[in-house]
Amino acid sequence: MPRRRMRGGAPLQWAFRSMPEPTPMRLSQFHLATVKEVPADAEIASHQLMLRTGMIRKLAAGIYTWSPLGLRVLRKVEAIVREEMDRAGAIELLMPCVQPKELWEETGRWEKFGPQLLKIVDRKEQGYCYAPTAEEVITDYARNELKSYKQLPVNFYQIQTKFRDEIRPRFGVMRAREFLMKDAYSFHLDAASLAATYQVMYDAYTRIFTRLGLTFRAVQADTGAIGGNASHEFQVLADSGEDAIAFSDASDYAANVEKAEALAPTGPRPAPGAAWQKVATPTQKTIEEVSAFLGVAPAQCVKTLLVEGRHGIVALCLRGDHVLNEVKAAKLEEIGTDIVLASEEAILAATGAHAGFIGPAGLPADIPVIVDRDAAQLADFVCGANADGLHYTGTNWERDARLTRIADLRNVVEGDAAPDGKGTLHLARGIEVGHVFQLGTKYAEALEAKVVDESGALKTMTMGCYGIGVSRIVAAAIEQCHDQAGIRWPEAMAPWRVAICVINPKHVAEVDAAAGALLDELASRGIETVLDDRGLRPGQMFADIELIGIPHRVVISERGLAAGTLEYRARTESESRQLAKDELLAMLAG
Ligand code: ATP
Ligand code: MG
Repeated sequence: MPRRRMRGGAPLQWAFRSMPEPTPMRLSQFHLATVKEVPADAEIASHQLMLRTGMIRKLAAGIYTWSPLGLRVLRKVEAIVREEMDRAGAIELLMPCVQPKELWEETGRWEKFGPQLLKIVDRKEQGYCYAPTAEEVITDYARNELKSYKQLPVNFYQIQTKFRDEIRPRFGVMRAREFLMKDAYSFHLDAASLAATYQVMYDAYTRIFTRLGLTFRAVQADTGAIGGNASHEFQVLADSGEDAIAFSDASDYAANVEKAEALAPTGPRPAPGAAWQKVATPTQKTIEEVSAFLGVAPAQCVKTLLVEGRHGIVALCLRGDHVLNEVKAAKLEEIGTDIVLASEEAILAATGAHAGFIGPAGLPADIPVIVDRDAAQLADFVCGANADGLHYTGTNWERDARLTRIADLRNVVEGDAAPDGKGTLHLARGIEVGHVFQLGTKYAEALEAKVVDESGALKTMTMGCYGIGVSRIVAAAIEQCHDQAGIRWPEAMAPWRVAICVINPKHVAEVDAAAGALLDELASRGIETVLDDRGLRPGQMFADIELIGIPHRVVISERGLAAGTLEYRARTESESRQLAKDELLAMLAG
């Protein structure tokens, strides 16, 4: 295939294009397999549309084949990711999908990664796993390859299949078990160098999602077990998103709700005003039931959760209308692991009552009572009495109920003050499509990845890691860009930019010839075009082209040829227009 830049007189811009001229495609020669019915087990629009367009086919739970149509879109995303990573100075390599157990034991993650890790045994009884990520392998590579500070900083990336045995694979490729990820890992002598590359990656991600035509936000993210260092998630905004994000209306503060701080209420706690009383709540256990029964707002009740801590049960108290933030709670020194609710038996043994009647007043002295900032501000509140069928009213901290410590334990809600002190928080839903993370020395220390520094001393390298869910992006884009008729691809992700539909029931040779000539002309101008020459009825053909989301549609018919114009319709418009060929070319070039 000759490249456009080889030809004399080609516009200068093509000289910089690395992509070959697109192959003119005829649908009669392609495998398009759309279906009309909405698949029964697909809950969200993107999953339904990926199945209806035939972009993906399920092989097993969370494992999909990408059809020729789906692959065209996936490759578009991959190409943009690759271009921007290269532009940002990252260097591509390719690591294996099958990784040896010993390496994972060196970092302690063979056990810690948990059941998400797909473990494999070979014929010699050697243990392996299918890569869920590649910190171990890249750090092993770096400890062998990098010897001197002069080789730093360096940022390696790959675009490679990953496997995570997700507990609940769902929504098709959105949360799959096998998926395509771009993962990059940078190596540095110090934290300042890491921070600089982190910013370069942050900017590259911003360019990638902008070029893809997606509405997204970069949000502060929790750094999880690794702790301490900076991390941002790139979230595509969509109502079906699994993540909740909070952002300020008066500043650029944005964070995953997992991470967003709920500020302490200002001013002192009101003084006690009511007498402390035990009241019968025979069957009322939930906050809703108790508050309705006693005629008290949920915000005037305290709910108490008993969870397993490092040294026995810990009580967590929240206002009745607030929700526990498990990520924040797991970081408490009394807990220090995932949140696990105490068992029914343990609750009964510790308090003498069943869940639903537990409260902070009168708990055994060895149970720490950790109270959320807002719950700690309450006076005269309702809470469980640690006796079945009973609650207290008019409860007050210190006077009636012991309070070990105040902490930020809840999820922020719409209308909370932004933690940066500027404006009010609003909530939105997002799909995490990228994640940048300052790892620090955790992996380099575990695998002893060191280089010689300027003074000749050995120094452990500092690392960053940067992931993009390449296959998830395809689903996320559909979630954001669709209507009743199907997908509305952003231009950069469309399988083809233009579809030429031929209406030629009488098989007039000139009509087919004109369609073929337009196809070749558009392709020669670098415009990816598909010709629908399947001979379908117009209604069927248009429905397919709309379903698969082609941004520009041109109809060629005997009548149009006679008039000397082309019938054009944009996927985002509801009416067709008649265009002269030059007008069409000018529009597609722009
Ligand atoms: P999530 O919170 O969605 O489980 P994660 O935090 O585990 O994601 P990372 O380890 O940061 O994900 O992986 C990098 C990127 O890979 C994510 O930002 C996401 O876009 C993508 N990704 C992660 N898990 C899956 C999955 N099961 N299916 C598809 N893409 C995924
Ligand atoms: Mg993540």
